[in-house]
Amino acid sequence: MKAARVGKAAKAEPGSIALLGAGVAGTALAAQLRRKGCRAPIRLFEAGRGPGGRAATRRTRRDPAWRLDHGAPLLSLSGAEPPALLEPLLAGGWLEAWPSDATLLHLDGDGRLRPSGPAEPFHRGALYRGRAGMDHLAAGLLALAEAEAPLEAHFGVQVAGLECRPEGWQLFNAEGRWLAQAEWLVLSGSLLAHPRGPALLGWPEIPLRRAAAPLADPELEVALAAIAALDLEARSNLLLMIPAAEAAPWLALPFRDLVFSLAAQHRWGLRRLSLQPLADGRCGVVAHSSAVFAAQHLGVSGGTPAAAAVIDKLSEALMGVLAVISGSAAQPWPQPPLPERQLMRWGAALPQPPGLDPKAMLCPASRVAFCGDAVAGEGFGRIEGAWRSGEALAGVLAGLLSEDPSTPVLPS
Ligand SMILES: Cc1cc2nc3c(=O)[nH]c(=O)nc-3n(C[C@H](O)[C@H](O)[C@H](O)COP(=O)(O)OP(=O)(O)OC[C@H]3O[C@@H](n4cnc5c(N)ncnc54)[C@H](O)[C@@H]3O)c2cc1C
Repeated sequence: MKAARVGKAAKAEPGSIALLGAGVAGTALAAQLRRKGCRAPIRLFEAGRGPGGRAATRRTRRDPAWRLDHGAPLLSLSGAEPPALLEPLLAGGWLEAWPSDATLLHLDGDGRLRPSGPAEPFHRGALYRGRAGMDHLAAGLLALAEAEAPLEAHFGVQVAGLECRPEGWQLFNAEGRWLAQAEWLVLSGSLLAHPRGPALLGWPEIPLRRAAAPLADPELEVALAAIAALDLEARSNLLLMIPAAEAAPWLALPFRDLVFSLAAQHRWGLRRLSLQPLADGRCGVVAHSSAVFAAQHLGVSGGTPAAAAVIDKLSEALMGVLAVISGSAAQPWPQPPLPERQLMRWGAALPQPPGLDPKAMLCPASRVAFCGDAVAGEGFGRIEGAWRSGEALAGVLAGLLSEDPSTPVLPS
């Protein structure tokens, strides 16, 4: 990264927020801040082309009906009270209940299927999905925010550098170009605060740690140490789109989401199999690798020559599972040719317990805050946790920004 250029000299607007990440946590934060009356500028930066993050949907302009939920395929809400924004999302048609005929099953190491239950975190509680793809959850949250007051959203922009100046927090891209400033900095992803950022992108240092050093804020130091220590499990997912003419055997499988026991993961290297029928008769298939498989192939991402070998291994594992489930070595599940079989690598798919103490979410002295599924609590490591963390942080920030003495404290 080149040296950062000097930004604007004027002070950031009071209460302005630079929000990094338009996943569920970031968009829930934006929506709830606006619904709580916060009208300060929100400058949202998202590296991806659209909202969603790990709950995004892969789409293509060439074929508008084509879509694949390549990360999370469903939302499970297990907390006693639903998030505050659930009702408006359902009313707005952004979310729908998971269909009762979209069966959830569990596979053991001997290839036996049985109903899945609350022991499986992704199947626990009330189940929902995006009405037209999982990215409709984050898109709906953004729409709720914008219905109250517009925000500045920048998609396809990765923030790579940070600096705290008397005028406010300054954001830069990887070339050192100044992007924006704001009084507050909110991170909904760990990239700028975790060693995986430098490892993945060749940065010399962890950007927020570097920017935080001159501030000497003990709360921020504690939060940064906790984030740097987060253990993030990877996934390598095989993506298939089966043409309508060949989809019948896939659609006849007795499940729409199949989770693998530890023994089954060990046997096949897969953690989960998600079937996603489209209205035009095609069937999307996502075979999620096990954590062990992903760790063994960490350096391999889609579009590289090495990816073809990983795709073949995952395809072979998938055929092996289906042969055992059906009790037949004959292979009635045609797969598309290699160029249409894709690999999606999630380097930081799922945070592992214990996660980030909710008290570390807010560092008022430095005007830095964090949210995301890595915050410990109900729904940790799932969409639910990301969503709740965004709503919880919004409650505290909205109070602080309006200097309301009844500001709620973060959950302990
Ligand atoms: C394969 C897979 C399957 C899953 N299945 C389920 C499931 O069935 N049910 C469930 O509840 N959960 C599931 N999860 C977990 C769920 O997807 C996450 O818990 C949730 O989406 C996390 O949301 P988030 O907003 O905290 O983080 P993210 O979705 O990661 O959002 C953070 C966003 O910030 C952006 N960002 C980060 N740094 C920067 C930067 N410097 N500049 C610009 N943008 C930046 C990222 O691009 C990203 O979009 C699954 C996850 C994976 C990977």
